[in-house]
Amino acid sequence: MRIYPSRRMLGATVIIGMGGLGCPAAVALAEAGARRLTLVDGDVVETSNLHRQPLYGPEDVGRPKVEVAGERLSQAFPGLEVETWARRVGPPDVEPLLARHALAIDGTDSVGAKFLLSDAVARIGTPLVSGGVVQWGGQAMRIDPGGACLRCLYGTAPREDEVPTCARAGVLGSLAGVLGALQASLALGPASPAGRSTLHVVDGRTLRFRTLTVRRVPDCPGCGARA
Ligand SMILES: [Zn+2]
Repeated sequence: MRIYPSRRMLGATVIIGMGGLGCPAAVALAEAGARRLTLVDGDVVETSNLHRQPLYGPEDVGRPKVEVAGERLSQAFPGLEVETWARRVGPPDVEPLLARHALAIDGTDSVGAKFLLSDAVARIGTPLVSGGVVQWGGQAMRIDPGGACLRCLYGTAPREDEVPTCARAGVLGSLAGVLGALQASLALGPASPAGRSTLHVVDGRTLRFRTLTVRRVPDCPGCGARA
């Protein structure tokens, strides 16, 4: 039997990054009955993507990811309205993009983009499900307005070259699928209690899940503006 999430959670969702996290998240949301998805990604499909990005096949190499993903999702879910942005999200895009969606999913592989999106939650008021996966590990955290953000968790953002990425360090493809589906579940679930967020950490080698409470840091430069 299919479980229908609440009407509010099926509002328009934007997925930023249509890679190893964004592909399974999009499929899971469409399967749950989402009516409107906006897909954002500036990259084209590469052969190295195929093991973890199941919406794409070898025949799609060289095509914009959002174009292919939009076609595949529209074929599989005829009632789904799909909008595509074939571009990388920069600071000027974040506010207009998030403001007209009920929820955002971060499927990017960039520290800068992750903090940019996290910082926007308190300012714009759109909940975000942040996520990341690399090598054998992954994590996901829903950030609601008034909840803890990535700066509450990590302090300042590390430099891009300090953090391993899927492209540089590799990733277990199936684990990206697990994390993307988990992000969709968090998107469809309830908001976090005020003043905190829940961090879900997955170890792909031991298959252990850990759940940690992250509390808002007073005067946090990321989420302090609205609290
Ligand atoms: Zn914060």
